[in-house]
Amino acid sequence: MTTIEDANFALQKVLDAGSQKNVIELAWIKNVRVTIPRVIVTLSLPSFANSQRDRIVLEVRKVLLDFEDIDDVQIEIDNNPSKTESQNQSNAPELQKIDGIRHIIAISSGKGGVGKSTIAVNLACSLAKLGSKTGLLDADIYGPNTPSMMGVAEQNPKVTEGSGSDQRLIPINKYGISLVSMGFLIEEGQPVIWRGPMLNSIIRQFLYQVEWNNLDFLVIDLPPGTGDAQISLSQSVPISGAIVVTTPQQVSLQDARRGLAMFKQLGVPLLGIVENMSVFIPPDMPGKKYEIFGKGGGQTLANENDLPLLAQIPIEIPLVDDSNKGVPISISQPNKESSVAVSYTHSPSPRDATLYRMPSSA
Ligand code: ADP
Repeated sequence: MTTIEDANFALQKVLDAGSQKNVIELAWIKNVRVTIPRVIVTLSLPSFANSQRDRIVLEVRKVLLDFEDIDDVQIEIDNNPSKTESQNQSNAPELQKIDGIRHIIAISSGKGGVGKSTIAVNLACSLAKLGSKTGLLDADIYGPNTPSMMGVAEQNPKVTEGSGSDQRLIPINKYGISLVSMGFLIEEGQPVIWRGPMLNSIIRQFLYQVEWNNLDFLVIDLPPGTGDAQISLSQSVPISGAIVVTTPQQVSLQDARRGLAMFKQLGVPLLGIVENMSVFIPPDMPGKKYEIFGKGGGQTLANENDLPLLAQIPIEIPLVDDSNKGVPISISQPNKESSVAVSYTHSPSPRDATLYRMPSSA
């Protein structure tokens, strides 16, 4: 007959996506009561782990229903884990700095196609041009297109001498940026299906098994949405700040709100909002601006969250053309409006100087 000990033992299979510790060890499960054929457990998650709740509930249910004499699993959610919260703080995954990297900036968006990678690439180029030692980690496992935006899609990064875990990936250097991308590791056109633990380990390899050397900024292009990649990253490494990219459209805003809420839950500082595709500037009439995706979305989001609107980037055809040729617009045409707007995300300007305000020895 299944005992409380059996149930506790089985529950050790349910893991935190970030630290890979199990829910018993983390004290996220309390009060396991077994009255055959029923088990009742209380789930008490710290706030930073709330985004994993649905998955954990499913997995808890599954491991307990695997016992032949259990056919009813009741999960009570402890919505007020105030007492355990402080205990759990010590169980919160320990963030591990990457030696030599001063600031990690995560670029994120609620959904794909809003220009997140474009902003990540151009922000990295813009920082490098200012003389900052800059790296770019393309963690967008579902659409790793920074190698083609940087004109290095055909290259393969080398590895250092040594074997096994001693080996390090050597980033590709282009435009003064050290680049590592999932695009170097997966074949073009191949479907990519990542399970949480696999994704977690590949992200950790990208962080800790790359010869980043000394960097002022590591810009990370995250996959869109609020999934395992964001959680793994936030629970591995201390992020100086996240920037959320949106377009002015309402649908984009709803997704961006979810992204913002996730970073807040995970305790990641937010630097601000970048609104991309704010207006269309026709190449033959550079004085005209058309608000083809509506107006004010970025500002609304910024106001709602008491964050700065760092930049509003226009749609410009040369941005697409040059990007397709492998040259980011911040390099090819630094005076174009989109290049100048990208530089607002970091340079002291009337609009903001967010990255400059970050502590110099974070
Ligand atoms: P995401 O990373 O959010 O999926 P991308 O950066 O890959 O989005 O951009 C999607 C497409 O939109 C790309 O073809 C890119 O060149 C184009 N794009 C992004 N921002 C702009 C812009 N401001 N002006 C013109 N084209 C843009």
